[in-house]
Amino acid sequence: MTLDYAICGTRNSNIGLPTGLKILREGGNALDAVEESIKLIENNPYDITVGFNGFPNLLGIVELDASIMEGSTRNAGAVAAVKNFRHPISIARKVMEISPHVMLVGEGAERFAKALGYQEEDIIDELGIQNYHNIMDGKSLEMPIEAQELVRELFMRFDVHLKEVMENYSIKEWYRKLSFDKHGTTNVIALDNESNLAVGVSTSGIAMKFPGRVGDSPIFGAGIYCSDKAGSACTGTGELAIRLSTTRLVVDRVHRNIAIDKATEMGILELKQLKEQGVLHIISMDKSGQCAAFTNKDGLYHYYADSSMEDPEKRQSVFLKIQ
Ligand code: ASP
Repeated sequence: MTLDYAICGTRNSNIGLPTGLKILREGGNALDAVEESIKLIENNPYDITVGFNGFPNLLGIVELDASIMEGSTRNAGAVAAVKNFRHPISIARKVMEISPHVMLVGEGAERFAKALGYQEEDIIDELGIQNYHNIMDGKSLEMPIEAQELVRELFMRFDVHLKEVMENYSIKEWYRKLSFDKHGTTNVIALDNESNLAVGVSTSGIAMKFPGRVGDSPIFGAGIYCSDKAGSACTGTGELAIRLSTTRLVVDRVHRNIAIDKATEMGILELKQLKEQGVLHIISMDKSGQCAAFTNKDGLYHYYADSSMEDPEKRQSVFLKIQ
């Protein structure tokens, strides 16, 4: 059966995908379906890893990363470490469409957004602040409180010795654990009835990240990539996808006639090349609307819908145990 259009997404994308599906059903394009789906997810205050109420960084400040890419042209736009804007996905799309650049970060991205008329606002409320305190108080994580405080001090006072703190308290190890538990990004991939593919990604990154930390989500070839043949995006420990160039390799395999399932599965298997592990969840779609999702963390799922379906359905992602 030939599909006219299709859409898939990870995490709480079920909040946004029905809107994306409607856009595609009415003949809209893949980029609009991706952006509008993600905006709804960014708006959801109960999704604590994307947009409004996303996990704050170590200092309690929400810094968001987002990106969007169009397959037919390989046009791309991203923002990273953006504060006080609710819809980083829309700013990323403007970076792609009207700026001469591919990525803007921090203050530069915020100035760009303001110049376009996007409204600055507080993007954390009581719920998000409570969530931050739960982590800082050690209620949700096991990092020794004194280590958390030292790392935080470091960024506030600049008079503690980072190297010592990092080593004495195995901070790297703790962050690895953190990214296994406290993670989440939304990925949406759409195929429209003109056979255009587009991918979008939005996240607040891992909880308690160092200020200025940028994950894989806005990095093309790492957490997002799209060509005219396939699109791919990641969730999980961004550092892994950056080190492995995960999504570019998935898409490249499709160009070498490897089926989308296999191409995506190999992305997870590549984790074996790294000594340190974390979690990775890859979702991909090819130009026939076939979707594949593989992960090394049991129990993860995604959503999928195409022109033969009324609503998106929840599907289990394939779990591969990586030692
Ligand atoms: N991949 C995202 C990042 O590393 C976070 C996540 O999906 O949990 O920023």
